[in-house]
Order: sequence, then structure tokens, then C-alpha cells
Amino acid sequence: MKVLTVRLEEIRDKNAEISVALAGAIFPVLSEMIHSGEVTLTSPVRVEITAAHEFDHVRVSGRVETEIRLACSRCCAEYDDRLSSTFQLFYTKAQGIDPVEDEEVELSETDLISVPYRGDEIDLIPEVDEQIVMELPLRPLCSEQCRGLCTVCGMDLNVMECDCRREAQSLTFGVLKNLKINQ
Ligand SMILES: [Zn+2]
Ligand SMILES: [Zn+2]
Repeated sequence: MKVLTVRLEEIRDKNAEISVALAGAIFPVLSEMIHSGEVTLTSPVRVEITAAHEFDHVRVSGRVETEIRLACSRCCAEYDDRLSSTFQLFYTKAQGIDPVEDEEVELSETDLISVPYRGDEIDLIPEVDEQIVMELPLRPLCSEQCRGLCTVCGMDLNVMECDCRREAQSLTFGVLKNLKINQ
């Protein structure tokens, strides 16, 4: 049985509410990232969803949340973070067998996503998977102020200052940043 599926007959007269905690492995893209070591989940993925039938589409509003562990892209240290995202998805029935859509879907807000579905149930896994992955930072940072590693000796500059003469630009940048903070 699929865990994140909305059956159309369930939402004919009323909204459907789904609230589940799922293993990251259920989400295809996320689980690939877990396997490749890009991210570690330190809690299950909690998903809360309301599905409603409106006119010719199904509106799914939801929230996805989990705790993650990432490696900082500057200093390589692991740090914990919380991932949380709210989203709205619009599922419209795919027309016939031709996947080319000739009717324009008018969506005024840019964060609305329209997804075609077929048959009498909607599998939410792919889109929820995408919501989680979109929230993951491309360049994870343990902190905005992370000073990273010395490019010469590899010292973690968050822990200790070394005597190396490093690349002028990164040094200047770091000094300026610190001056600003200290003022
Ligand atoms: Zn860092
Ligand atoms: Zn150094």
C-alpha cells in the first residue's frame, strides 16, 4: 500500500487529511542523496497534507519537515539543521493519451505548481520528494560567519588562527567581515 496517495473518491465530498512520518528512503531523489552521503536524516520525514477537490483540479496543501545533518562546505564540520517547507500543489487530470497540454493553466502566483495526474489516485511522493530536495542548501554552511579552513595549512579558522599568509582576497574579506561584526 502506498503511504502518500490521495484517492479521488476519498475527496469527492470532503477534504482528505494525511499526517505521516516516513523514512527518507521512501523518497527516490532524497534517498539517492542519503546514499551518496550528501545529507543525513536524523529524524523521520513528517508530512502533513490536506487534499481538496476544486473545480477541475485537486489542491494539495502541505508541510514537510525533518531534521538533517550536513557537512559545511567551508570548514567540513558536520552540523545539524531543521528542514521545513510548506507548499501548494495543483493536480489537474491529464487529457486523453496525448501528454501535450493545449490549455493554458493560469496560475497567478509563481510558487504554485501544477502537476498532471492520470487514473483515480494521485501519488504525492514525487512532488513531496522535490519539495524536500529543493530546501536542501547547495552550499551548506555551519554558520554565515564560518571562516572555513586555511588554504595553506588546513587549520579550522573557526577554532584557531594560524600564521599562514593566505590568498589576499579571502583574508581581506574575512578581516573586513570581522571588523564589521566587532564594531
Ligand atoms: Zn563551517
Ligand atoms: Zn594556515
